[in-house]
Formats: sequence, C-alpha cells, structure tokens
Amino acid sequence: MQDSSITMEKIVSLAKRRGFVFQSSEIYGGQSGAWDYGPMGVELKNRIQRFWWKEMTQLHDDIVGLDAAILMHPKTWEASGHVENFTDPLVDCKKCKQRFRADQIDQAKLAKKECPECGGELTETRKFNLMFKTNIGPVDDGSGMLYLRPETAQGIYVNYKNIVQSNRMKVPFGIAQVGKAFRNEIVTKNFIFRTCEFEQMEMQYFVKPGEDVKWFDYWREQRWAYYAKLGVRMDKLRWHQHGLDELAHYAKDAYDIEYEFPMGFKELEGVHNRTDFDLKRHQQFSGKDLQYIDQENGNERFIPYIVETSAGLTRQLLMVLCDAYEDQKVADKGTDDDWRTVLHFHPALAPITVAVLPLMKKDGLSELAQEIRQGLKEEFATDYDQGGAIGRRYRRQDEVGTPFCVTVDYQTKEDGTVTVRFRDSMEQIRVKRDDLDSCLKQAIKDYVRV
Ligand code: ATP
Repeated sequence: MQDSSITMEKIVSLAKRRGFVFQSSEIYGGQSGAWDYGPMGVELKNRIQRFWWKEMTQLHDDIVGLDAAILMHPKTWEASGHVENFTDPLVDCKKCKQRFRADQIDQAKLAKKECPECGGELTETRKFNLMFKTNIGPVDDGSGMLYLRPETAQGIYVNYKNIVQSNRMKVPFGIAQVGKAFRNEIVTKNFIFRTCEFEQMEMQYFVKPGEDVKWFDYWREQRWAYYAKLGVRMDKLRWHQHGLDELAHYAKDAYDIEYEFPMGFKELEGVHNRTDFDLKRHQQFSGKDLQYIDQENGNERFIPYIVETSAGLTRQLLMVLCDAYEDQKVADKGTDDDWRTVLHFHPALAPITVAVLPLMKKDGLSELAQEIRQGLKEEFATDYDQGGAIGRRYRRQDEVGTPFCVTVDYQTKEDGTVTVRFRDSMEQIRVKRDDLDSCLKQAIKDYVRV
C-alpha cells in the first residue's frame, strides 16, 4: 500500500536500491557508524561539496581554501581543549545493557537511575572522550599515539600564519576546508545523520577583536541564504540559539541551523563565535607568536577573533535526500503505477543531469540517441537507457532525481527534433537537436522547486 509519508525507512531503502548509500562492510554484517557512498551518492556528495566550495571561496574574495592532514601533532588536541573537554556523558543499563547519552534521555528517569527502555538500573554517569586514538610508528607503547581529528577546524588554526604570510591575507579573511572527521559517537542511529566517520565543510573567519559580533551576524545571514540557493524548502529550516548550558568550551555565542528531518528538527550546521580561544591556546602550547600584525594600522598586534561556520557534508546529503523525496500519486487507476517516487533535486545537485532514451532499440534510434548523448557529455552529466517501456524508464530516472530526459523517436529521424521531459511537472516539449544544449542550460538556470 503506497502512501505519501516520508520516513527514514523509505530513504534508507531508496538509498540502497539506487546506489546512493550502502552499509559499510555489509557482507560481514556491517560496521556501525560507517557508511559507503555508491555511484549516485558520490556524485551527489561531490556536487554538494562543490556548491558549498563555490559559495564560500569563489563568491567571497576574502576566503581561501586549505586541505590539511587528518593526522595532527597530539599537542593540537591538548591546546584545543578536546583532550579535556570533548566528552559525552555516558550511562549504561545494568539490565538490558543498552548504552545512552545522559543528556539525551529523560532527565527525571536519569535522576532516578531508571533505564528509559526497560526500567532497569542505570550506572553512574561517566565522561567518555569522543576522539579516536591510533598509533604512528612500529612500536605500540603509547609513545606514537595520535588522534584522528574530530573536527577540521584545528588544521585551519595551526596553518593560519602560513596562510597570512604566503597569500598576504588581511583581516578580515576566511579559510575554508572540506574533509573527514572522526568521532567515537556512542549512539549512531538515524542512518548517516550521526556517524563515527563523516565529512565536514568548515570555514573559519578571522576578524579584529571587537568586530566579532558584526561578523557573526553577517555569517548567520550568509549561511541562511545558502540553503535557499541550494533549493531546499526553507520552511523546513529554523534557528536554534545555544543556551549557556549548551555552549561548547570555546564558544561565546552559537546558533545552529536545524532541519526538520523525518525524526524531527535536528542540527544541520553551527555558526559559532569562537573568540580568540583557539589561537591563544595554540600560541600558549606551541610557544609561537600567533599575533596578527595589522600593517595598515601602525603595525598593531592582536590575536584575531574567529567566527566559524561548521556544516556536515554527509549530514547535508541526508538533508538533501529527505528534502527531495516524494512519493507522488500521478494517476488513479488503482494500480502500483499510480505512484511514482521522485527526488526533486536542484539540477545543479542531481547525480545525472540528463538521460537520453531511444523510444525503440531498432531502426537506428539507439545509434541516434547515443550520438545525441555524445554531444551532451562535455557539458552535462548524462545517462543512457534503452531497456524497457519508456514510462518505466522515466520512473527510474525520477527515482534518482534526473531533472531532464531526452527521448529520441521516429520524428527525430525526420525533422531533427527530440522530446524533453521535465521531472517535476512531467511536461514534455519538442526541441530541435541543435537547441538542446541551450534549452537545458536555461532550464537549469530558471529552476524553481514547486
Ligand atoms: P552534536 O552535539 O549533535 O554531537 P556538535 O554540536 O558537536 O554535534 P559540531 O561539533 O558543531 O557538532 O559539528 C559541526 C557539524 O558537523 C554539525 O552541525 C554536523 O552537521 C556535523 N557533525 C558533527 N558530528 C557529526 C557526526 N557524528 N556525524 C555526522 N555529522 C556530524
């Protein structure tokens, strides 16, 4: 029985069925906290990353990029406060053996030490550090202990002076980075929402002390506007300001952008005023002078304040999938064909932009369709499908969010026109082969989600 609700089960099932996301090491029963991105997933992830990168670097003259190593000197994490403070409060049930984050369960039950699942007795709350440890070098005696980075931000801070000097950056300026981060999360549920291995897209903006509040407001506006450009439904987003009890050890003020996932409103991205906390600590722990010298103001020296925008790439991919997903009733014949599953991706994000479909395999139509596809490859991500009824092929493309299908039929042979079929409206128009390129480009430019 079909229905139009959006559930995580439907998303997970589509993601696997169509090659977006697979369970890690599935043939061994799976590895919790880790997921693999299939042919569709990697394209979508790359496009989201590119969209963010363009927004943050190409469209902001004062932001440059960086790709720092995952493995960093262990002192980094002492300086950053992660060794001491990057912990979650953990409780276990003595009866059913389930493990919980103490801050995420009913506080009345926690006070009574009562398991929220089975009513059994809970252990005392203990602090659990989320950083993964590994070892460098041949001897595993603790002397080569390293952490897998739990955030990409620190790679930016320790390189800030290099970047000021090599690229003559002047405050205010930003450094953007996309990369893997690792956290030993206690509870990894809701598919790829919270995982132990994930990717972040972070930008650290260095400003003069005293100007941090102004820039904090500016970046909150910018980041909100980004999601409108990404083409998601803005009524699904909201702000959440951290209360004093929620603020991270480094933050003066923090706002999250939350998205209404099938399991409720959850954090998508954080905008944080990290003050001069990180750079001061790195100066103290490294013994290096990390002051900025303001040559335009009589060589005034100061430690810049930092405004951070920190988004999860893999979490954004889940958001884009949930936001795009629709089980839509398109007919009323009382059969399964009445429904289609469609992903309303923005065309700039869709893994396949245009699919070329010959109406029939015979009479030279497939050769002609291949030739048309060849002509589109340089500009667009294309697919070719000649298997099965045309209606079924449209549905297959709808399911992976392909915004345009080009159908090649007998008329194409006669007058050189093709049918362009639009995913969202299912409208079809006839276009000259020669105009196909500009027609598709215009449609991408004009795209609005209905
Ligand atoms: P939480 O309190 O939910 O554990 P956080 O507030 O510690 O998360 P940040 O440190 O601010 O999260 O991380 C910035 C962003 O990185 C988050 O908004 C999220 O998009 C992403 N992120 C953080 N942890 C994870 C994770 N375990 N899996 C996937 N994405 C994550």
